[in-house]
Amino acid sequence: MFTDSHCHLNRLDLTKYDGKLAGAIAAMKAANVNRAMAIMCDIAEYDDIYQIVQQYSDNTLTLGMSVGVHPCEDLAVLESATVERLVEMASADHVWAIGETGLDYYWSDENIQAQQASLTRHVHASQILKKPLVIHTREAKHDTLAVLKAEKAEHGIIHCFTEDWETAKQALDLGLYISFSGIVSFKNAQSLRDAALKVPKDRLLIETDSPYLAPVPKRGKPNEPAYVPYVASCLAELFAMSTEAVAELTTKNFNNLLEQYH
Ligand SMILES: [Zn+2]
Repeated sequence: MFTDSHCHLNRLDLTKYDGKLAGAIAAMKAANVNRAMAIMCDIAEYDDIYQIVQQYSDNTLTLGMSVGVHPCEDLAVLESATVERLVEMASADHVWAIGETGLDYYWSDENIQAQQASLTRHVHASQILKKPLVIHTREAKHDTLAVLKAEKAEHGIIHCFTEDWETAKQALDLGLYISFSGIVSFKNAQSLRDAALKVPKDRLLIETDSPYLAPVPKRGKPNEPAYVPYVASCLAELFAMSTEAVAELTTKNFNNLLEQYH
C-alpha cells in the first residue's frame, strides 16, 4: 500500500478519464495507492475537497484533507486564514493537517510579511488542534526555518522537499518529516537525491503534489496520485531497497505523523 501525502485532488487534469474523477480514483486503487491527503490552498476550496473526500473514501481508499492557505495566494486570501477560522474548519476528523502554508519568495516577494504572519497563524492552529503542518518553502528556507523555530513548530511535513541537506537537517531537528515528490526522480536532481540518502528512514514521506511535477517516466504529463509508486521506486533504487519496502516505510511514517499527539 502506498500513501500519497500531498495531492490536489480537486485540481487534477481528468482529460484521459473523460473528465471523471472516478477514473483517477480507480487508477489509484489499481496502483495500490490506498491513502491520500487532499491539500487545500484557499479557503474557497474547502467544500469541493470535502465533497471528494466524502464521496470517494471507502474500504479500499482512505482520503483525508488539509485546511489552510498557500503562501502564493493574494493578500485577502492570506488574511482570511485567522487562527479561529482555521481551528473551526480543521477540527473535524476528516481534516488531517493544517496547510499548505509556508513561504514562497519565488512567485511573490511582495507579501513577505503577510506570508510570515499567515504561517505563524497556521502554526498556532496546528498547535491548538495537535494536527501536523504541511509546509511549502521556495526561495525562503532561512525565513521558513526562522518562523518555525520561533514558534516551536515541531509537528509537520516539509512538502515537496527541494532544498539542501543543511535545511533538511534543521527541519528534522525540529521534529518535522521530509516529503519527496517526483522532483527527486528528475535527471538534474542529484543533489536532492544526495540529501534524500541522509534523511532518517523513519522521517521520510512520498507525495505526488499532483497535478504538478509528474515523476519520471511520466515527467511533463499531468500528474495524478496513481503515480506515487514512481516516486517510491526512485527512492527504492537510491536506498537499494524494494519499492514495496519504501511503500511500507512511508505509509508507517504517515501513520506516526497522524498519531504523534493522539
Ligand atoms: Zn501542493
